Amino acid sequence: MPEPATPLSERPGGAVERMLGVDEALARMLGAFAPLPPVETPILDALGMTLAEDVRADEPIPPFRNSAMDGYAVRAIDTRDATFAAGVRLRVVGMAAAGGAPGGRVNERTAIRIMTGAPLPDGADAVVRFEETDDGRGATDDAVSIFHPAAAGDNVRDAGEDVPAGSVVLAAGRRLRAADIGLLASVNRRAVRVRPRPIVAILSTGNEVVEPGEPLRIGQIRNSNSYTLAAMAREWGAAARLLGIAVDRADALTERLADASDADLIVTSGGVSVGDFDLVKDVLRQHGEVGIWQVRMKPGKPLAFGAIGGKPLLGLPGNPVAAAVSFLIFGRPAVARMMDQPNSLPCLMATIVEPIDNRGMRRHYVRVRLEERVGDVPIARPVAGQGAGVLSGLANADALLIVPEEIERAEPGMRFAAIPLRAPWDAT
Ligand code: AMP
Ligand code: MG
Repeated sequence: MPEPATPLSERPGGAVERMLGVDEALARMLGAFAPLPPVETPILDALGMTLAEDVRADEPIPPFRNSAMDGYAVRAIDTRDATFAAGVRLRVVGMAAAGGAPGGRVNERTAIRIMTGAPLPDGADAVVRFEETDDGRGATDDAVSIFHPAAAGDNVRDAGEDVPAGSVVLAAGRRLRAADIGLLASVNRRAVRVRPRPIVAILSTGNEVVEPGEPLRIGQIRNSNSYTLAAMAREWGAAARLLGIAVDRADALTERLADASDADLIVTSGGVSVGDFDLVKDVLRQHGEVGIWQVRMKPGKPLAFGAIGGKPLLGLPGNPVAAAVSFLIFGRPAVARMMDQPNSLPCLMATIVEPIDNRGMRRHYVRVRLEERVGDVPIARPVAGQGAGVLSGLANADALLIVPEEIERAEPGMRFAAIPLRAPWDAT
């Protein structure tokens, strides 16, 4: 049974750590986020962002009646008797090119040579394609033979046929795709109101952590978390800002966090477990509101969530896979909410073919490779490195297979949901 969700700040001493299920922790955390206020954004930059207004077409698309083919603008009635053997001859009285006004008018038994996109001349009600004429070649005078009867409306695009004037072409809440960006241009928009990209500020903590490029002294490890987390944030459409590394001293942490004033979300890694130097929680308690939770998940149990300087802060464990998985489970929905996008993760089903142990009532995110099977769900095979610190195991995985907390041992043949890790445009 989950314990009641009492905020830490309401508990005497505030030091008690809570044990929460993933869903409960997520629900509590998400309450702190709302869609960001809309900003006017150039249309091309709005790709992937969520519209915050209904976009209407002020003018019809296409704006005027025009030809869908290269050919001859005619009166359909004049071509009624045309056959392949005996063409109908029409006098050519002009030419209509795209980009200009039509040259002349189509009267009885006349035609105007017309190009795709050119306005349909008055009097005409159809276009006969070049392929159904002799294209004027057989004529000594300015005439054309038509070999196929046209019906009114043939090869004619009406004004407003694509988009009628006044209609909503894209509604608020729409996540903009490539064709939408073109549609915005076609309704004469150069900028559009969208939810901005949240700024995710990322801080790594630890005396032992050094940046790539710096010499690695005894006892030190490279900072990978900042880069994994920033890359994930970017993949989801957020803007990532690196705050560097803070050593395990309260003043260092406080100083680095002061740089996060423009952030919509601060993400830290390390320093939230019960080690000697786990300062994130102490600093947060001093300067803001924070809850330290023990979440029933694997990898990644300790999680801090609160606010500092009025900014929401998500404190992730330091182990690289625990940090990444926790960020996927908790950080991504926060980013999605700020971008006014659905926070559910796309999932697929997969079958296991070897047992997976899951003692301890934690939701287990198993790093798996997927093997496609024709006509059936894929097979999920755990990758070799399942440790919370084995980043190559995560890099080698196609998906995170979710073994629920209540299953102590998953048996071959069982099916589970899995979260694909590849970008959506990658083939599996
Ligand atoms: P912590 O949660 O601070 O106790 O860290 C847990 C483990 O994660 C330790 O082995 C750390 O060295 C490692 N770790 C912490 N921060 C990072 C980082 N930024 N990049 C890679 N590993 C880290
Ligand atoms: Mg640490």
